[in-house]
Amino acid sequence: MKHDPKHQFETRAIHAGQSPAPENGAVMTPVFFTSTYAQDAPAKPRGGYEYSRTSNPTRTALETNIASLEGGRFGLCFASGLAAVNAVTQRLSPGDHVVAANDLYGGTFRIFTKVFERFGIDFAFVNATDLDAIRSAMRPETKVVYLETPSNPLLSICDLAAATEIAHAGGAIAVVDNTFATPYLQRPLELGADLVLHSMTKYIGGHSDAVGGALVTNDEALRESLAFYQNSVGGQLGPMDSFLFLRGTKTLAVRMDRHCENARALAADLEAHPAVERVFYPGLASHPGHEIAKRQMKDFGGMISFELSGGLPAANTLATSTNLFTLAESLGGVESLIEVPCSMTHASIPREEREKAGLRDGLVRLSVGIEHLADLRADLLTAIEKAAAKANA
Ligand SMILES: *Cc1c(COP(=O)(O)O)cnc(C)c1O
Repeated sequence: MKHDPKHQFETRAIHAGQSPAPENGAVMTPVFFTSTYAQDAPAKPRGGYEYSRTSNPTRTALETNIASLEGGRFGLCFASGLAAVNAVTQRLSPGDHVVAANDLYGGTFRIFTKVFERFGIDFAFVNATDLDAIRSAMRPETKVVYLETPSNPLLSICDLAAATEIAHAGGAIAVVDNTFATPYLQRPLELGADLVLHSMTKYIGGHSDAVGGALVTNDEALRESLAFYQNSVGGQLGPMDSFLFLRGTKTLAVRMDRHCENARALAADLEAHPAVERVFYPGLASHPGHEIAKRQMKDFGGMISFELSGGLPAANTLATSTNLFTLAESLGGVESLIEVPCSMTHASIPREEREKAGLRDGLVRLSVGIEHLADLRADLLTAIEKAAAKANA
């Protein structure tokens, strides 16, 4: 086993959970396309595997890898980020209560309100940058405090060490969706969280070619209960996708460095631009969460949101005028994307809820890729000029 927990992040990203196959020396973990496994005697599986819904060696390699990157003991991989959210929420019972951030990923808000509220689970959505708001939403029945930082799409920053302390004081577990930051930039378990969630579809995969989710914890009982739901309900990640995500994590550190570098430069350009009203990027000193982000993150990530002075019409012109920034949902791939959250990723959140969370209709979100900065800058600024000219016409 080349993997050593004392190795640095970049080294663990390449080696954790993986070693050359003893039978033939294959350096890459094979894709184990098998549903079942030979047993030496009834209920005596030869290599610890019985059935691939329960576990599969390619998935095990990825689960070990992701757990190592998050600094956790146990990983579980799912067919999507939302399948992971589902497993977390299915542990709850009618009457249980969840305190959740009010600017969560739109699909997380949807599964909470449209699926689990019907089963008698209560949710309170609060501004998670306000610790008093989290504290006063806690009830005796609160079992989970569900956080996401930097949040989507406003990149607001929740103080994880303080928020997890509030969760624990109220007898709840703290779950952190770490999709935007990735374990390279932020490790919530080290800040007190009980469970980290990922949509691996984004930065962990990094190439916009697979959908997957992950959970990581240090708590063995929590791992057992989540594995029980995964095995009972399904929603596990298949072996081919596990292979793709294993390939993704190997380059996570170098990709994130470039995402951050490009985003930092574009955020500064946008902030200085006369046609731009407001920029949301935690790396800017003007961002209200900047100091906390500096403390709990290694760098500020590749996502930027901003408002043009021309509002929604200008946002729509901009989003259809870029060439390198593709108009599409999702994020975290090597290629740059642009979108208008109110009509796309966040359309499932009612306008009233969106506005309460500060998400205006004219907001534009960028997933800054790893193309050359000069090309991205030229593409974005040309499109902004076009949108501004049209708004003033
Ligand atoms: C995409 C996303 C999810 C959902 O993940 P899927 O893989 O699309 O199911 C959850 N949280 C965040 C922050 C996301 O960006």
